[in-house]
Amino acid sequence: MKRFFRTVVFLASVVCCCGCGRKGEFDGTGSRQYADIAMGTVIRQSIYAPERTADTFIKTAQVYLEHLERDFLSWRLDTSEVYRINASAGSEEGCALSEEMAELLYSCMKLHRDSAGAFDVTLGAAVRLWDIDGWAAGREGEVFSPPSDGAVEEALTFCGGEQINLVRGAESRLFMPEGMRLDLGAVGKGFALAGIGELLKEQEEIGGAVISLGGSILTYGQKPDGSPWRVSIVDPFDTADSVGILTLRGQWCISTSGDYERYAEAGGVRYHHILDPATGYPADSGVRGVTVLSGDGLVSDALSTACFILGPEQGLALAAEYGAEVLFVMADGEIVMSQGMESYIEVGR
Ligand code: ADP
Ligand code: MG
Repeated sequence: MKRFFRTVVFLASVVCCCGCGRKGEFDGTGSRQYADIAMGTVIRQSIYAPERTADTFIKTAQVYLEHLERDFLSWRLDTSEVYRINASAGSEEGCALSEEMAELLYSCMKLHRDSAGAFDVTLGAAVRLWDIDGWAAGREGEVFSPPSDGAVEEALTFCGGEQINLVRGAESRLFMPEGMRLDLGAVGKGFALAGIGELLKEQEEIGGAVISLGGSILTYGQKPDGSPWRVSIVDPFDTADSVGILTLRGQWCISTSGDYERYAEAGGVRYHHILDPATGYPADSGVRGVTVLSGDGLVSDALSTACFILGPEQGLALAAEYGAEVLFVMADGEIVMSQGMESYIEVGR
């Protein structure tokens, strides 16, 4: 990740010289609060630091996220590494990888194996076919209808984490079969928050921070008065409400995946954006929402997606393997959680 940070620091100083960027607002607790759009979602930052340090950091984080999206993670932008990898699918020479990408894909492949295939970053063809993100964002004058069984079956022939070959070395390479497409949507935000955590550590004047990016939240350091972070877990049955509050100290990443986040409806059926690689259809495991707590953003984000597909029995075992805590809200309203989660949560409904 080092290369990113250097680029970010350079770009951030350019931004500061231009004098642009957004000013934060004090919330009366000593933190500066900022909201913006990044990686196609809302980013909220609360930074406990002197005003100028906080204002500079917010820009640094924003520039870092733009950089990640443009140069690394996006499957849409032809400037990104994922785009280049996807364009190389089917070629004999494969695609040369940056060290960061080789490391990320190595972790994703391990998660694929450990989750019995539930977590799969090679689902691009199926994700594009459904395009739930596109439908959830709204398409004027068009009515959603799910793809045909045949189209889903065909898309699945271009998916499957076991079909990619990652060769690691001085120059790592990835080989993918023709038609396969990577989609890192299930880990992008957690990966980005892990990167922001590293950037925060370089800022001695920042005592604490809470940063949320889509369905993932990073807590860092502590508040000036030493009181703990309190992070609310959204209730999938009423997103304005919460199923409980986590009380946390220091650095954590909390990721939530749910069927209420992005979906499209047809014939009274809700089609959400988390696909079961075994069927090519939205996962149907009786889970409405999963929250995972881990010290590592990549782990919390990947596991929240995997556990949503696996359900509590296998999901609890997977989380334990990664030293993470997990909470499931089931379709019948039942809450199932790992034993360790009980020491962080105050259930509120
Ligand atoms: P969000 O992005 O809303 O926080 P997730 O982290 O659960 O939600 O990621 C969902 C995204 O991951 C989908 O929009 C899609 O791009 C991708 N995806 C869908 N199903 C899977 C899966 N089984 N494994 C890995 N990625 C998936
Ligand atoms: Mg995820």
